[in-house]
Amino acid sequence: MATAHGKTRLSRSGGDSNRSLIDRTLAAVWHPCTQMKAHEAFPPLPVVRGDGAWLIDADGRRYLDAISSWWVNLFGHSNARINAALRDQLDRLEHVILAGFTHEPVIELSERLAALTGQRLGHCFYASDGSSAVEIALKMSMHYWRNSGQPGKTGFVTVAGGYHGETLGALSVSDVALFRDAYAPLLRESSTVPSPDWRNAEPGETSADFAARAAAQLERHLAANAGNIAAVIVEPLVQCANRMAMHDAEYLRLVRAACDRHAVHLIADEIAVGFGRTGTFFAHEAAGITPDLMTLSKGITGGYLPLSVVLCRDEIYQAFYSDDFTRGFLHSHSYTGNALACSAAIAVLDLFEQQDTLAANRETARAILDAAQPLGAHRRVSHLRQTGMITAFDVDCDDPSFSRRYHLAALEHGVLLRPIGNTVYFMPPYVLSDAEVEKLVDGARQALDAALA
Ligand code: PMP
Repeated sequence: MATAHGKTRLSRSGGDSNRSLIDRTLAAVWHPCTQMKAHEAFPPLPVVRGDGAWLIDADGRRYLDAISSWWVNLFGHSNARINAALRDQLDRLEHVILAGFTHEPVIELSERLAALTGQRLGHCFYASDGSSAVEIALKMSMHYWRNSGQPGKTGFVTVAGGYHGETLGALSVSDVALFRDAYAPLLRESSTVPSPDWRNAEPGETSADFAARAAAQLERHLAANAGNIAAVIVEPLVQCANRMAMHDAEYLRLVRAACDRHAVHLIADEIAVGFGRTGTFFAHEAAGITPDLMTLSKGITGGYLPLSVVLCRDEIYQAFYSDDFTRGFLHSHSYTGNALACSAAIAVLDLFEQQDTLAANRETARAILDAAQPLGAHRRVSHLRQTGMITAFDVDCDDPSFSRRYHLAALEHGVLLRPIGNTVYFMPPYVLSDAEVEKLVDGARQALDAALA
């Protein structure tokens, strides 16, 4: 293996320390979302250290993490405050079973998350990753209707292009053919309604008008089928995996109203967009609505530890509260409410409070968009767009290898970017300095020239 792959590894990753880690990872690790054979030509990059917005490889090269390590990092790698909170918790309690036991970090985190929703979502149910949170939200919604005497409401409605994870239930409400097709025999049917992605608006149509048109189709679907539908699941403001498809907040207002009219739950999947990513603390706040259930993960621990949570309205919680054990929500994961992960999440909430992160992000987002204007004007670039700390543009290039070539070219310029198809996006940690914004956009421009050459 070493001889067969040595040459390409050298060209990608430089020195001996990287090469030795690459050999060992290819011999032992099955990497996610990856055709492993492709690593023969494009080996994974061994990272040994993180520092703020930067990742450092085994040979000492530095890369600006402009995708927040799969959208999880908020306050930089190796953040002193989160590190200290974890060390402090580590000396007291790392983990305890949450069935029949409780602990201070899970209580404080739950109280503070509920307070951030204005107590409208009053209880927190924990898991370890985003997909599991989606599973929980789907089960909770369906079980709520069963406990409420409407056992026929078992279906789900999802938005075209939506992504909610890759466990079987979550994949059943996701609309990404690449991830679904091989597993189609294992999936449950769900209905899909058109996406409010404003890139598909007619010329002259505003994003709000287009959102209204998409919501009207959902309304028609609910009017005909609500008796069989438990919930509609949406990614508020940005369908991230759908090439950063952005929509007007009006869509969420209209979907909320339609769900109310037809007695269907609204699940806001804020796994990628929560925690300030789109400008408000929770993305749905931009529409002035409250979902019935909300899933959170990714940024919740600042990108440190796996943790996810479903928050729900008290009316849903109360429908499970009974002398009858089987009316309870009998779902569990071993690491539910892990004390270390909860203490990292509390440190993240502290950082938001102490630094007025949302205000600082508005400045950083403006700087990113200003710096990206020349990129937006490139003759092969369209739809330069931004929602909060997510900035994206589409590149006129049909070559299926564009994304990989762009990624490799950006790495050569010291920036970690990972286009989805022909959409390049920036989703950096919230700690970028002006110089880092410049570095990011400069790397993106150089990668574009290289990938289109
Ligand atoms: N929902 C959304 C909106 C996501 O972006 C993701 C992950 N990208 C998930 C669910 C699944 O989360 P996880 O990868 O942690 O299972």
